[in-house]
Amino acid sequence: MTAGTEPSTRWPAISKDPAGFRVRPNLVDYDAACAAFSWDEARHELSGLPGGRGVNIAYEAVDRHAAGSLAGHEALRFVRADGSVRSLSFAGLAEQTSRFAGVLRGLGIGRGERVFSLTGRSPSLYIAVLGTLKNASVFCPLFSAFGPEPVRQRLHLGSGRALVTTRSLYRKKIAGIRDSLPELRHVLLTDADGDPEPGTLDLAALMRAAPADSEVAATQAEDMALLHFTSGTTGTPKGAIHVHDAVTAHHATGTTALDLHPEDIYWCTADPGWVTGTSYGVIAPLTHGVTTIVDEEEMDPDRWYRILAEQHVTVWYTAPTALRMLMKAGADRARGHDLSALRFVASVGEPLNPEVVAWGQEALGRPVHDNWWQTETGGIMISNYAATEIRPGSMGRPLPGVEAGIVARDAADKPIVRDGKAVLVTEPDAVGELALRPGWPSMFRGYLHEEERYRRCFAGGWYLTGDLARRDADGYYWFVGRGDDVIKSSGHLIGPFEVESCLMEHDAVAEAGVIGVPDPVAGEVVKAFVELRSGWQPSEDLQLEIIGFARKRLGPAVAPRLLEFTAALPRTRSGKILRRLLKARELGLPEGDTSTVESPVESPAGASEPAPGPGAPQ
Ligand code: AMP
Repeated sequence: MTAGTEPSTRWPAISKDPAGFRVRPNLVDYDAACAAFSWDEARHELSGLPGGRGVNIAYEAVDRHAAGSLAGHEALRFVRADGSVRSLSFAGLAEQTSRFAGVLRGLGIGRGERVFSLTGRSPSLYIAVLGTLKNASVFCPLFSAFGPEPVRQRLHLGSGRALVTTRSLYRKKIAGIRDSLPELRHVLLTDADGDPEPGTLDLAALMRAAPADSEVAATQAEDMALLHFTSGTTGTPKGAIHVHDAVTAHHATGTTALDLHPEDIYWCTADPGWVTGTSYGVIAPLTHGVTTIVDEEEMDPDRWYRILAEQHVTVWYTAPTALRMLMKAGADRARGHDLSALRFVASVGEPLNPEVVAWGQEALGRPVHDNWWQTETGGIMISNYAATEIRPGSMGRPLPGVEAGIVARDAADKPIVRDGKAVLVTEPDAVGELALRPGWPSMFRGYLHEEERYRRCFAGGWYLTGDLARRDADGYYWFVGRGDDVIKSSGHLIGPFEVESCLMEHDAVAEAGVIGVPDPVAGEVVKAFVELRSGWQPSEDLQLEIIGFARKRLGPAVAPRLLEFTAALPRTRSGKILRRLLKARELGLPEGDTSTVESPVESPAGASEPAPGPGAPQ
């Protein structure tokens, strides 16, 4: 990777006046907080299982509060479609999650076995996450926007024993693939209402019959707790393994990066199928004993402003695509809503444009604090803090307890390692691969059944994130782009290989190359280039048919939104499709070194040239 130097930002920094804080931020002096921090001390903020029986995420999140002064405190507040709310106290949540653990036990699902979910943000989902952990089983959430194929693949790879889902999702996505999943023993319907589908169970009925106060199973810090699937450039989805000790990081980062205080009303908008929906939609706020808002509906600007105002949300954690949608809807939509309770706004998952940071100040009365992390890190690693200066466009600085670095890359884009040590870029603003020093508690402990793939993530003493970044002279990190071909669309990480494989199952498709192209709202959208088999002619009907075919199998979140026919895809001499070249051509960028290209072809006819949208990396 060539090291480039660029000005850090053209947007003025947003400084904070410590005297102006209504609530004193948890982290005021960044350097002092980093110097004083240790993960061992962070562990002491938690309780551990009674009797020294180990550590369990669900105990830290629920039962220790239920056993103390927070028993009657509102843990979860669900906002229904009509705006009405239903609440669960910590004591109520402890009881419900015990019952769920009892249901699993009764079904013979034990320690380390995987329980999956495919549902929206309903009470059953939260109960299932925590109840699974109380049973020492492993929880694995899936996006409900996935089509049957990604669902089947993940259930198969993760050896799912039980699945929690709804009747309509079962009918649409599971019934047709059930026979191909012999290891899936039980499907629990959250809305069976006394009448489960054939081959499924009525979760509510089982819960009523289960014991209300069973003891949390003893788990150790290194026992597997969560499995989160993520996508790479090639191969099948990767199941990132997280352990119970991750709760140390969830709690500590809730303190430092999200600035959680006991009296907060906290809202995380992340889909529960995404790691953020678990780490920060469920675990971190509950360990802090704060009240968490859960919107059961999909994103809608007016609804969201109403929830922020009516529920008196104080800390809001959301994503750039959602903020861009609010911004697009117009600032007048925010008017008339009293957002004065809002104290801190944070965002994660994609590059956050400086425009959005500034818009936050105007429309919400608060700037947006970007932070960075990924499925493998299990928790926030780099962040802008409530009390510290924001440099719009920057992801911020590493959390206390986190050591980040920029690793130099060679001409073949491989990290440079000398004498067993990664070579770090030291000059400010030079680009390299963002890396983290292993050792934080929520670091993934492996990819399920893929030891070699896991080992390849580490080099010269560092975990390599796959992202390119630079660090300015004051230690602020700036996202530059992905180091691989993975696509980020509306926060979803999409492996091009998964999409290409699906497209090639269509009779007309000989080969496919899939890339992300900039989109002003979603950051990127998926675009497929397709080579047809002989005998097939490009046509608009065929284009729509192939897109429809992919949507049905992969679901709208993953399927290509754009499709273009091409006579020949650019390939290396060994036959690998050069997605990078497709992308350079699509964006009108220099094509770089094409000496390894087998048969360079003309840019595909009719290629559009979208200007890099505000979602493009800054
Ligand atoms: P996931 O594992 O699905 O959470 O995706 C993680 C990836 O999302 C990272 O490796 C980045 O490429 C991207 N990402 C997450 N947060 C940010 C951010 N604040 N700025 C830019 N990219 C981000």
